[in-house]
Amino acid sequence: MASALSDRLSRIVKEMRGQARITESNVTDMLREVRMALLEADVALPVVRDFIARVKEKALGQEVVGSLTPGQALVAIVHRELAATMGEGVADINLAAQPPAVILMAGLQGAGKTTTTAKLAKHLIEKRKKKVLTVSGDVYRPAAIEQLKTVTAQAGAEWFPSTPDQKPVDIARAAIDHARKHYFDVLLVDTAGRLAIDEALMREIQELHAVLKPVETLFVVDAMQGQDAINTAKAFKDALPLTGIVLTKLDGDSRGGAALSVRQITGAPIKFAGVSEKIDGLEVFDADRHAQRVLG
Ligand code: GDP
Repeated sequence: MASALSDRLSRIVKEMRGQARITESNVTDMLREVRMALLEADVALPVVRDFIARVKEKALGQEVVGSLTPGQALVAIVHRELAATMGEGVADINLAAQPPAVILMAGLQGAGKTTTTAKLAKHLIEKRKKKVLTVSGDVYRPAAIEQLKTVTAQAGAEWFPSTPDQKPVDIARAAIDHARKHYFDVLLVDTAGRLAIDEALMREIQELHAVLKPVETLFVVDAMQGQDAINTAKAFKDALPLTGIVLTKLDGDSRGGAALSVRQITGAPIKFAGVSEKIDGLEVFDADRHAQRVLG
């Protein structure tokens, strides 16, 4: 198995022990290891390049102070920059809108949208004491509508019916209307995914966005997607003003490098992490902790 970044970094720290300063040549050796480790963690290549360039600039400009060796100073810079790239602190859901606050869920099929919709409903009910309605705009897969109905019940939220013969925008209008009339605080809108990006899908979700005027547009992405996450993220970012990311399947064995790629490409904060198939398997994303995971 390839050695994780922290192993690689400690090797470098040892090798650099005899050296007094961070120099162009020793920083280059170390950054080669960082690059390899990030690629192993499935961070997309262009994102790795940018990251390395930023770390290099910071490292060369830095005075090494106190008892730190240049190796240790570099490791600290790598840690800090990783956490900063993935977003500092924690970012919860924004509900600052005239109720119902609408949350639009976007992402590829299988990313975990429906599961996350229900997890989020439960989170908002329990942690924010909100009255939550869900609705599915996936008119292509009747099973997806049924799936949302089932998981919404598990979440203790209410589900608004939709059928495959309706247009997604009509479903959206009817759901908002219902939410208003029945004093719901939040309307969560699950949408149709496709196995790959296609134009019809993007147009449809853009139309939904225009009708719903959501306060949050969340991009749901599978952490196991690895290198491909960058293309998916780009396509969704170009189509929609994303306000946040949910990274799912972090209970898998990926090192979660997709977080770095998706965050950098979209510029949107990673708000939640999916950590199991179960309804309570949602955590507020913690960039510091995740940086540690990517480092291995
Ligand atoms: P959608 O097509 O985007 O709506 O995706 P689904 O919500 O149907 O999820 C696809 C599959 O991924 C299902 O089998 C889910 O149980 C599973 N899934 C979703 N989120 C997670 C997660 O955080 N961890 C794990 N292990 N599985 C998840």
